[in-house]
Amino acid sequence: MPSLRELSITRVENTYLVRCGHANWVLVEDGSDLTLIDGGYPANGGDVERSIEQIGHVIEDVRSVLVTHAHIDHIGGIADILTRHDIPVLMDPLEVAHARREYLQQLGPAKTPLLLWRRGAPKWLFDVIGAGALKGAELPQAQAFTEDCALDVPGGIIPIPTHGHTDGHSAYLVPGAGVIASGDALVTGHATSRVAGPQFLVCPFNHDRTATDEALGNIASAPAGVLFPGHGPAYEGSLTTAVEQARDGRTRMRP
Ligand SMILES: [Zn+2]
Repeated sequence: MPSLRELSITRVENTYLVRCGHANWVLVEDGSDLTLIDGGYPANGGDVERSIEQIGHVIEDVRSVLVTHAHIDHIGGIADILTRHDIPVLMDPLEVAHARREYLQQLGPAKTPLLLWRRGAPKWLFDVIGAGALKGAELPQAQAFTEDCALDVPGGIIPIPTHGHTDGHSAYLVPGAGVIASGDALVTGHATSRVAGPQFLVCPFNHDRTATDEALGNIASAPAGVLFPGHGPAYEGSLTTAVEQARDGRTRMRP
């Protein structure tokens, strides 16, 4: 895992996976324009802007923000950026009310003790509280995308419905790069996990574990050979194999 402020950037064609502390986000380049997918914790707003500068752009190049799902580690930095910049924020129609915080489908302090026996969990909790996990965030500007094919955003990104982790979770396919940004539907690591490689997030994080499993069929069948997950490093290879690994729990023990 990169240190809390360090940026680790992986590029495939026009698509960049940025890892910073316990959060990931994705930047998609289309000429001089950018789409941002997710934005880390509330404390990561400035880190998102730094990552944009590191790939040779400025925040004003971001024409659209896409959200995989409205958990604090994915929308916190976006909420911070939107206090300074006016950028449209799009997501699955079923996730809009969640992002506006008309309800909350997130592991709260009451259930957090379920995780604390896991190796790495106490430090993770300490770190994410420092990153603003308890501050809360909301996106009153959240809008639903209306297309289920290529969106009218830089990169011509295609939403891939992956409901389950939250009711309106969406992954995003970047067709020109063969990359799928999978959010938390399928990850490759997490501070609370003992294994590395394609996997589900540990149970308490998933709102509906059965639906999360079923949704992986849409990732397996996507025309992509690279996974940019919401947590963990990039994965390159067959997505069918990645999904099988997650379902079988056949991931390697973390060194
Ligand atoms: Zn997450």
